Amino acid sequence: MVTKDEASPMSTYYRRLPIYLLLDCSESMAGGSFDGLTLGLATMVNELRSDPMALESAALSLITFSGVARQLVPLTEVFKFNVPRLKLGSGTALGAALALLESCLEREIVKTTREQKGDYKPVCFIVTDGEPTDVWEAIADRIRTTICGKKANVIGIGCGPDADLDKLRRVTDVVISMNDSKEASFSRFFKWVTASVSSASQALERGGDRPINLPDLPAECLEVAKKGVARNQPEAGRHFFLHARCLRNGGFFLVRYSLAGTPYKCLGVHPLDDFDMEGVNDAKGPQIGSEQLGDPLPCPYCKNPLVGACSKGHFHCCPMITEPISLTCPWCKVTDIYGYAAFGIDGGAG
Ligand SMILES: [Zn+2]
Ligand SMILES: [Zn+2]
Repeated sequence: MVTKDEASPMSTYYRRLPIYLLLDCSESMAGGSFDGLTLGLATMVNELRSDPMALESAALSLITFSGVARQLVPLTEVFKFNVPRLKLGSGTALGAALALLESCLEREIVKTTREQKGDYKPVCFIVTDGEPTDVWEAIADRIRTTICGKKANVIGIGCGPDADLDKLRRVTDVVISMNDSKEASFSRFFKWVTASVSSASQALERGGDRPINLPDLPAECLEVAKKGVARNQPEAGRHFFLHARCLRNGGFFLVRYSLAGTPYKCLGVHPLDDFDMEGVNDAKGPQIGSEQLGDPLPCPYCKNPLVGACSKGHFHCCPMITEPISLTCPWCKVTDIYGYAAFGIDGGAG
């Protein structure tokens, strides 16, 4: 019996065009950005599947980062890539994500040897809207000096008006800014990534190891970030988040506040059916007292108008309190008499 390997002992390796997507899943992405990210990713995979060149050569890997970084999908050919469920978490562990990228490249990319040609040069997209909350500078410098342009093409995408593009510039020279982080902009962005992958896979026939030619940016949402052009003051656009549960159904939600001006204005409540709690305590946000908070928006599940905290400091929705009332914390199930009292907060960094 002849096995496949024996039949072709010197078989040429089927070269892949590896695409790494590093997606920021910090809580600041909650709402339209996250919907756009989830939908855009699924659409992209579908479109690549119907592109014969991409189908033949492209392989995708997905790395997400919030409190921790995870490789959700190892490098996988487009035709068998299953889009995973994305989960938001607390914090922006950019350093951990870059370190993970470095080790994945080392492990997953088939190198060119004397005997065979290895994979084409990978293309890595790093999408983030926030401030890194971990140590990221040393690994950023290492990616820039040892990987960018040499082992991989690395493209940074800062999404929303508050993304700090200078931090991305420390990683790579190719930085693109997304003007806003609305759902429609993410959809255009992923269309552009799809077109980039298509054009890179078409260019393979003409020798795939040259720098990739990125297609034109959709002007209404993306632009090449110019050096030294100041954007909004980061502080003015910073948000912080309370992690809360509904008293009635236990549902999880984020309460988003703006740090611009006091009292801090509540910008939104985001119900989430899944949240990655790992690394939550590593992301240190501002120290805030409840008296600094403006009125919250109603609970997204039961419309309770307030946010309260149990004696252990868990946040939950809360009815109007006119006299002391007995409530059970949906986190720790402890029943207590609640009155009105100020509480301190370690706001999660967005
Ligand atoms: Zn509620
Ligand atoms: Zn509690």
